[in-house]
Amino acid sequence: MAKLIDGKAVSAQIKEELKETVAKKKQQGITISLAVIQVGNDPASSVYVNNKKKACEYIGIQSIAYELPEETTQEELLSMIDDLNGRDDVNGILVQLPLPGHIDEDKIINRISPDKDVDGFHPQSVGALCIGQPGFVSCTPAGIIALLKRNHIEIEGKECVVIGRSNIVGKPMALLMLRENATVTVAHSRTKDLKEICKRADILIVAIGKPKFITEEYIKEGAVVIDVGIHRNENNKLCGDVDFASVEPHCSAITPVPGGVGPMTIAMLMNNCVESVKQ
Ligand code: NAD
Repeated sequence: MAKLIDGKAVSAQIKEELKETVAKKKQQGITISLAVIQVGNDPASSVYVNNKKKACEYIGIQSIAYELPEETTQEELLSMIDDLNGRDDVNGILVQLPLPGHIDEDKIINRISPDKDVDGFHPQSVGALCIGQPGFVSCTPAGIIALLKRNHIEIEGKECVVIGRSNIVGKPMALLMLRENATVTVAHSRTKDLKEICKRADILIVAIGKPKFITEEYIKEGAVVIDVGIHRNENNKLCGDVDFASVEPHCSAITPVPGGVGPMTIAMLMNNCVESVKQ
C-alpha cells in the first residue's frame, strides 16, 4: 500500500511553527498584517477569503479585510493598492482572484509591490524564482515542496513530470523542482504521448484540472504522485485530477484529495506573510 502524504498534518505543523515565530516577533514589538481585498461576492471566493482570515487569526497575523462592491472600477482598485503599498503597517497584500470581468487581473497583480506580493504572482517574483533569487513563491507549488521535504521524499536527481503549465501552479512548480535538482519535464494540453512521458516519472505532479484523468496506465511502479486538482464528483464529493483508486496500488506515496495539497496552500500563504517582514 502506498504511503498517504498527509497535507493536513504538515499544514498544522507549519501553522504551529509560524504561530511561535509570530508570538516571538510580537514580543519584539513587531506585528504582521495582511490586507485581503475581495471585489464582489462570488461565494467560492468568500469561502477562500474567510479561510485566509481564520488562518491569520490563528497564527496571530492581523488581517485587514476590504470587501469591495462588484462595480468597483479598475482605477479605484489600483488606487487602493497604491495606498496599501505605501503603508508601513501593511506587510502583505492579497487580491482574491478571479476579479470581475471589467478589471484586468494582470494590471492589478503588476501594481502590488513585489515586497508585499504574498501570493507570489507579480512578474518580479516569478522572474526571481526563475533565476534563483529570493522572492515570494506561489503558495500551492511552495506547499508541494514542503510536503515532499517534510515527508523525506528525495527530489534531487529524480525524474519529475509536471502536468500543467499554468502561471500559478505548473510553471512555478517546474521551476521549484528544478531548483531542488530534479530532472524536470513539463507536459501540457499539446503534449504527445502523455502516458509514455508520465511513466518515466519518479515524482508525478498533476495539475491538469480534469477530474480523475490520471489512471494507473500513466504511473511508473513505485512513483510518488502529487494530485493538485480539486473537483466535485457526481455525488458532490471532492476528488482530484488523479483516479486515486486506480493509481494508489502502484505508487510508493500519494496525496489524497481532500487532505493532500489543498491544506498546504494556506499554510504557505501564512509563511509568505511571516517572510514579508524580512523582505
Ligand atoms: P489550469 O486550467 O490553468 O491549467 C491546466 C493545465 O493542464 C494547462 O496548462 C493545460 O495545458 C494542461 N492540460 C489540460 N488538458 C491536458 C491534457 N489533456 N493533457 C495534458 N495537459 C493538459 O489549471 P490550474 O490553475 O493550474 O489548476 C489545476 C488544478 O489544480 C485544478 O483542478 C485546480 O482546481 C487545482 N488547484 C488546486 C489548488 C490547491 O490549493 N489545491 C490551487 C490551485 C489550483
